[in-house]
Amino acid sequence: MSEVIYDTIIIGGGPAGAAATVYAARKKLKALLITSDFGGQSAVSSDIENWIGEENITGLELAKRLEKHVRRQHEIEVKMPEKVAAVAMNEGPNCIFEVHTDKGDTYRSKTLIIASGARRRRLNVPGENKFDGKGVAFCSTCDAPLFQDLEVAVVGGGNSALETVIDLLSYAKKIYLLIRQEEMTGDPITQEKVTKSPQVGIVKNAEVQEIIGDQMVTGLRYKDRKTHEVKELKVEGVFVGIGSVPNSDFIKNLVQTNENREIVINHLTAQTSKKGIFAAGDVTDDPFKQNNISAGDGVRAALSAYNYILNTKKYSPCAEKEE
Ligand SMILES: Cc1cc2nc3c(=O)[nH]c(=O)nc-3n(C[C@H](O)[C@H](O)[C@H](O)COP(=O)(O)OP(=O)(O)OC[C@H]3O[C@@H](n4cnc5c(N)ncnc54)[C@H](O)[C@@H]3O)c2cc1C
Repeated sequence: MSEVIYDTIIIGGGPAGAAATVYAARKKLKALLITSDFGGQSAVSSDIENWIGEENITGLELAKRLEKHVRRQHEIEVKMPEKVAAVAMNEGPNCIFEVHTDKGDTYRSKTLIIASGARRRRLNVPGENKFDGKGVAFCSTCDAPLFQDLEVAVVGGGNSALETVIDLLSYAKKIYLLIRQEEMTGDPITQEKVTKSPQVGIVKNAEVQEIIGDQMVTGLRYKDRKTHEVKELKVEGVFVGIGSVPNSDFIKNLVQTNENREIVINHLTAQTSKKGIFAAGDVTDDPFKQNNISAGDGVRAALSAYNYILNTKKYSPCAEKEE
């Protein structure tokens, strides 16, 4: 275990974690950033049109810029790639947080900023794992070119499914969009782009039950939620775009989470239910999951961690017991 006790450890290198890191440096906190990668979820996006200050930027370019900005803060230590596996609270006289990583390292800190975002949600139906990489895909930016002139299905009705459809328009011959409800939930502008295309067929009230195939995907079975009829659709690819699950497992023993596994925060301070632990971005119960919002949340969390350190005499997450 390292002898160093950091002022703050930031977990995650997406927009929230990168922004928190830059602000921690500006406040001269002794900080460590631990992240699996830089850029976060939209690093796979081919086209981001709402990152303020840029009319248009690819996810990859945004990821590079976030990393460059973070690495310019020379006084901040960065551990990448490294994944946090668990966090414990040392309740002894030097009450601090202990962060354990998948490399077997332990780092200690007075405060934590959780900016670990979210990961893709899976359908959890038969065939999804078996054909993962054999026709089942989760990232259209990465895999859309593999489906040139083929017929594919996209599952989901929110932004991630609609953006998947848009990416596929340049490659696939036909795209079936299977939505569970009667209506899509993605941005109206994106919905319009999708519904206008003659390449796209929309299948409403569809609940996917199985992905079928031999060596590769040959189709899927879904239930019509209105008629309860089970139907088969012949496709050579299935893109799953049904949203995300917060990466909160490693911290759920210490902070309150809601039914969606999001970390519950005070939205004025980014404070979680545990003093000294702050959270920002998609891992929290903020209803809006966006790059700009995550970056702003990261700033708020870093400034709150700074205030907390200034105002807490013993720098201690156990302070609530001692006061
Ligand atoms: C395909 C797609 C396209 C999108 N397009 C847009 C768009 O155009 N505009 C927009 O505003 N938003 C877009 N979004 C949403 C946007 O990407 C998210 O709101 C934003 O990335 C959230 O930022 P974050 O920093 O909170 O989390 P994330 O981006 O999820 O970053 C979390 C970071 O934490 C790391 N991490 C996770 N767990 C651990 C761990 N245990 N230990 C260490 N590191 C960990 C991850 O590797 C990652 O670097 C898109 C999302 C997707 C999926």
